[in-house]
Amino acid sequence: MTAPSEATAPITQDLLTIPRKLPEGPVNLVGMTRAQLKDALLEAGTPEKQVKMRVNQVWQWIYQWGVRDFAEMTNLAKAYRAQLAERFVIELPEIVSKQVSADGTRKYLVRIAGGHEVEVVYIPESDRGTLCISSQVGCTLTCSFCHTGTQKLVRNLTAGEIIGQVMLARDDLGEWPEPGVGTGESGPRLLSNIVLMGMGEPLYNFENVRDAMKIAMDPEGISLSRRRITLSTSGIVPEIAKTAEEIGCLLAVSFHATTDEVRDKLVPINKKYNIEVLLDALREYPKVSNSERITFEYVMLKDVNDTDEDARRLIKLIKGIPAKINLIPFNPWPGAPYERSDWDRIERFADIVHKAGYASPIRTPRGEDIMAACGQLKSATERARKTKAQIAAEAGL
Ligand code: SAH
Ligand code: SF4
Repeated sequence: MTAPSEATAPITQDLLTIPRKLPEGPVNLVGMTRAQLKDALLEAGTPEKQVKMRVNQVWQWIYQWGVRDFAEMTNLAKAYRAQLAERFVIELPEIVSKQVSADGTRKYLVRIAGGHEVEVVYIPESDRGTLCISSQVGCTLTCSFCHTGTQKLVRNLTAGEIIGQVMLARDDLGEWPEPGVGTGESGPRLLSNIVLMGMGEPLYNFENVRDAMKIAMDPEGISLSRRRITLSTSGIVPEIAKTAEEIGCLLAVSFHATTDEVRDKLVPINKKYNIEVLLDALREYPKVSNSERITFEYVMLKDVNDTDEDARRLIKLIKGIPAKINLIPFNPWPGAPYERSDWDRIERFADIVHKAGYASPIRTPRGEDIMAACGQLKSATERARKTKAQIAAEAGL
């Protein structure tokens, strides 16, 4: 089986999401929305009159205090705790391995149901700590410069597996507050920001990503502001408006080219939603989501998209959109058909964009020694690579 490409198969989002309830086992509460948790507690025999309060209590134990054992939920009657423990579990995906880079970046390899693996990266900075999470195993899209896009195996993560990545990082960072002791916040958070920039296209797994991010934002739990969550998309236009309405987080878009001809090759979904259609959707985003700037991600590929003319065309295209341009020096991977632009070229490009009035930070590659940088993530269970020839053919080279 090969990964679907535009040439061989229609772009699809009909991916199987593993059901939350496995045939025999108990039901996992992690990843349920408040409404789903309410239904589950009712089914488990919670009296209708009490259910609202019980949802709040259980929610707080799971998402505010990080408790995994019903026996520790001391504000619930003992018999009720036992009743819950019979039917439910509070389970996270399992950390298979953890690597720590010389620069402090941590990369976790995480095993999810079915034995698949995804990668999660924690990036500490002086004023924040960002967790880069995955939304799918692999990706159905085949951006020609992206390692994840060469992975054959694909499935959507459940909401529990998505929020589970945040929870297991908090476990590893030791960041759950003592139960009952304020919010536990005595200083800046270690995990203060989430970016959906790991493996997968988040907007091809919209419902699960939305539900997981709602949990992350819930004020009686992990409580991250929607301005501390950034969703990166390759440009799935119909879902962009839904993201504004139903999640309201910050948006980043993998723009990467200034003509349809080049973008078709780099980001093949451009053949379905081209630059003009994408920009129309982006113009609406800040109004509907009431958020600030959109981040335009732009990977710097030598002799492909990095000329002064490209920089000037980019400025023209995004005119009128509150924007920041994030220049990403290409992170090479074995067999990649591209090279990173020279440093002075990247600086010159940044300079042109900056002079036009846009912030144009150059993303410093982090965790390079552990292959934790953007677009390098690829699960360990699925090492089979496409051949160089296949990759080049898909890149239209
Ligand atoms: N699927 C989503 C989010 C994941 S990738 C998306 O495409 O937006 C996060 C960012 O890293 C995207 O902008 C992606 O285009 C970029 N990226 C992928 N591979 C890369 C590589 N090898 N070097 C640099 N950036 C890369
Ligand atoms: Fe998928 Fe994003 Fe990689 Fe493209 S850049 S293949 S959309 S993960």
